[in-house]
Amino acid sequence: FIDVNDVEKWFGQLQVLKGINFEVTQGQVVALIGPSGSGKSTMLRCLNFTEQYDSGEIWIDGETVGYRFDGQGRRTVRPESEIARFRSHVGIVYQSYNLFPHISVLKNIMLAPVKVLGHSKTKARETAMDLLAKVGLSEKADAFPINLSGGQQQRVAIARALAMEPKIMLFDEVTSALDPELVGEVLNVMRQLAADGMTMVVVTHEIQFAREVADKVIFMDHGVIVESGVPSEVLDNPKTERLQSFLQRHF
Ligand code: ATP
Ligand code: MG
Repeated sequence: FIDVNDVEKWFGQLQVLKGINFEVTQGQVVALIGPSGSGKSTMLRCLNFTEQYDSGEIWIDGETVGYRFDGQGRRTVRPESEIARFRSHVGIVYQSYNLFPHISVLKNIMLAPVKVLGHSKTKARETAMDLLAKVGLSEKADAFPINLSGGQQQRVAIARALAMEPKIMLFDEVTSALDPELVGEVLNVMRQLAADGMTMVVVTHEIQFAREVADKVIFMDHGVIVESGVPSEVLDNPKTERLQSFLQRHF
């Protein structure tokens, strides 16, 4: 469903992704872990083409991400309209929730479905209310973001991404900025989403969450995948010294 093939990425002289390969099948949850600067966010951003990759190929649901390839393997960037359509199927949630501050929670969720998907306001409102129920915030529909806790805002951000009916959800350390007591409520929403069969790639420092929810854990360091496999393998029986010391630091 997601197929990442030899992906490389440079920022100027600095090579940040050095030939990344992994697959995610439909409905799988993959946890991406690794030290700061290892390239996790960059990898995630390449998956929805927020960041262009320099070589290799990424396939999602039968299409190459961001580029078209000709018979000789030469690539051209897809037209902006195609990239926008593609992105609407790949939801991404960041550490900072970036809700629109001047409109209500409900309107935050309705906006893109109306503007981008062309849904009627009635339909968008219904979907938004369903999603708010799903993330446990039905009573906050008319509140403004500033009046919500960080955990509530992050749950609204997830609902807003889900309103676009994504095939895949990407999460980049969505709980890192939250007070510890608010982390659980956001992880629970993600747990539920995984149980509902959403395909997810989750960059996280929540090792316990990865252990419980992920089908596969990928450990990156310095732009390469050092180890990957089922959580019990990667988290409980790390083979490399690099992963062992990383896990020690994060427990
Ligand atoms: P963290 O856990 O701190 O979020 P990360 O694994 O997500 O780290 P990335 O954000 O992917 O790491 O960054 C990987 C490397 O690429 C770092 O050395 C970073 O400084 C560099 N980098 C990221 N974005 C840019 C950019 N826009 N321009 C230049 N260098 C960048
Ligand atoms: Mg990051």
